[in-house]
Amino acid sequence: MGKLGYDDTEFITGQPWRVHDSKRPAPPVVTPADKVGDPPSDAVVLFDGANLSEWESCKEPGTDAGWKVDGGFMEVVKGTGDIQTIKRFGDCQLHIEWAAPEKVEGDSQGRGNSGVFLLADDNRSGYEIQVLDCFDNPTYADGSTGSIYGQYPPLVNGCRKPGEWQSYDIIFEAPIWDEGWIVAPAFVTVMHNGLLLHHRQECLGPTGHRNVCRYAAPDPDVGALRLQDHGDAVRFRNIWMRPLFGYDGS
Ligand code: MG
Repeated sequence: MGKLGYDDTEFITGQPWRVHDSKRPAPPVVTPADKVGDPPSDAVVLFDGANLSEWESCKEPGTDAGWKVDGGFMEVVKGTGDIQTIKRFGDCQLHIEWAAPEKVEGDSQGRGNSGVFLLADDNRSGYEIQVLDCFDNPTYADGSTGSIYGQYPPLVNGCRKPGEWQSYDIIFEAPIWDEGWIVAPAFVTVMHNGLLLHHRQECLGPTGHRNVCRYAAPDPDVGALRLQDHGDAVRFRNIWMRPLFGYDGS
């Protein structure tokens, strides 16, 4: 094997490594999926179309999620309430696909409304990236498709037509608390159908409705991924997560 790097170069500013350091650990090998959007080898698959075994009811944690599974997707069953993953995550990369009902009903926040919540648990919903059918459907900007609900509108409206599958790729950095004090806020990056909606946007606090979001109480270190029952038959498929920042050479 040839020479890997150098041991006589300067240290990189702010890092314990030299430029081209031969001792710097190599990144872990991950095998990407054959098709972009499918889970890579290190992903935690949360829904592959088969069943809701990774999910539970939020109304009654510990009991089965009551949403419908059919033809490779899950669908909100109105009135069953939100569902959440049994597994918990902190910093993570999330891929999720969704489709608003093909038959257009309602308007504004009443059309194809659901939500992807991060850092949720039994007692709180956490941080919402809005799911909504904003194809030719005006609503308040900070509640439109892909908004950080009640905080920041998306940079663009990249909605596909109702009934068509759409994707979110989300990178979430959990807030850091120390003895009741907020040390670092949450940050979120969101891509919608490959379009950038939020670039490491600082969150103002967990999501609320009709109130200003604040860091009022310590967030849990890890939380569930939660999906919202807002009364509309929104569908989801191909949901996977990668926990982040475990690599010791970063
Ligand atoms: Mg919603």
